[in-house]
Amino acid sequence: MSLHIPFDNSYARLPGKFYARLNPTPAKDPHLIRFNTELADELGITPGEPDDAAQVFSGNRVPDGSEPLAQAYAGHQFGGFSPQLGDGRANLLGEVVDAAGNRRDIQLKGSGPTPWSRMGDGRAWLGPVLREYVVSEAMHALGIPTSRALAAVATGEPVYRESGALPGAVLTRVAASHIRVGTFQYFAARRDTEALQTLYDHVIDRHFPEVHNPTDLLRRVIDKQARLIAQWLSVGFIHGVMNTDNTTLSGETIDYGPCAFVDTYDPQTVYSSIDAHGRYAYDNQVKIIVWNMAQLATSLVPLMPDTEEAVEAFTEAVHAMPERIGAEWLATFGRKIGLAAATPEDTALINDLLTRMTRERADFTNTFRALGTGKARDQFTDPASFDAWETGWRKRLEAVDDPEGVMAAANPAFIPRNHRVEQMIQAAVEGDYAPFHRLVEVLMRPYEAQPEAADLQRPPEPSEVVQQTFCGT
Ligand code: AMP
Ligand code: MG
Repeated sequence: MSLHIPFDNSYARLPGKFYARLNPTPAKDPHLIRFNTELADELGITPGEPDDAAQVFSGNRVPDGSEPLAQAYAGHQFGGFSPQLGDGRANLLGEVVDAAGNRRDIQLKGSGPTPWSRMGDGRAWLGPVLREYVVSEAMHALGIPTSRALAAVATGEPVYRESGALPGAVLTRVAASHIRVGTFQYFAARRDTEALQTLYDHVIDRHFPEVHNPTDLLRRVIDKQARLIAQWLSVGFIHGVMNTDNTTLSGETIDYGPCAFVDTYDPQTVYSSIDAHGRYAYDNQVKIIVWNMAQLATSLVPLMPDTEEAVEAFTEAVHAMPERIGAEWLATFGRKIGLAAATPEDTALINDLLTRMTRERADFTNTFRALGTGKARDQFTDPASFDAWETGWRKRLEAVDDPEGVMAAANPAFIPRNHRVEQMIQAAVEGDYAPFHRLVEVLMRPYEAQPEAADLQRPPEPSEVVQQTFCGT
């Protein structure tokens, strides 16, 4: 049976100014690295032979029913507005309706230049492709809304970056949609209210059928993003490039670039080499998402009949967001210390632990995981600092049901540790994909003990610590 994708495209039906129609650029000698059979199944895709998949997911063969296009969008990058960004190296092949009835985008990333490539080559090298595969699948398994990875294909062509020639690759990713805050900004910046209305209608129809006006849309997106950011924080995730063009309307995490996970906990952690001022530091993500939602609000104003009323309603919605994030944060971090229903009085207890973790250089993931097994004190340079916190915590737990069960479901044993991701990329560049496959497989069950994978739980040795991550597109 040959590869079949049951396309049902809607974005390609929108007006021409929403995208540029163009086919992916063929790759020289594509080889399938990994194909996500389980996800394919969910999407109703018949996989066919590996070579068939390599041809389609490298962009060499456009499958039946696909209408490839690069999407137009704008965005604030590190706070500065670019009116014209767009997919510079991606092709949306089309959409499918999955087994649950949800519409999903299928997009190639690294599939050649588009009208929005600017100085870029439209390609991706193996490192970022494998990193996005591993991290997006891990986030999904952790229960965090995210784009998914359907396939990774080596192109057999070199890609030239600062460090020299590197192996090229294409990632196929799947998302509820790739509509971004920046998509709204694109039409708002052009004062094209008609296109803005069309985009709005599409988004309502696709993601928020229960919504009846732009204020409600804003509130719903704020809700989803508030929850998402709290979930990121709860696993120590730092996106690294929270530009408005990387913030979705659907509330899914997208565009994994120089993302990373904190090892020893410090709320000011920054890994990205391009984030010189820490704009997208771990704890700053809370403020940035509010700022990004304010940009969405601004671009929705032309859709409201009365500007003054719009500004008032939108301001209220955006100003309410920090409290929403606070509530989500309390709920998620409450579960991490065993409280199924934390109350505002628990905030001090959680913050006290986090302060001690920072001071005593405790590993974020392993400390929380060890809370449930009684070994958390070993994570602190001064274990007495943990003991001092533990007394109050144990007292609080006396009043609750099954804290161990709550913690086991809230504290993963496995996250994609930065040094393991880097080591995996290094091995793959040398032709050994075994660490990549192993990492994916272990990370698909992050809450299970998996003693045979204990090495993937270990924090980095001093020599292994990843100090910086690179956009390294
Ligand atoms: P990102 O930070 O990955 O979200 O990318 C920001 C913008 O740069 C997007 O419009 C990308 O499509 C574009 N871009 C990134 N890398 C490349 C590349 N190698 N070639 C062309 N465009 C690129
Ligand atoms: Mg992007």
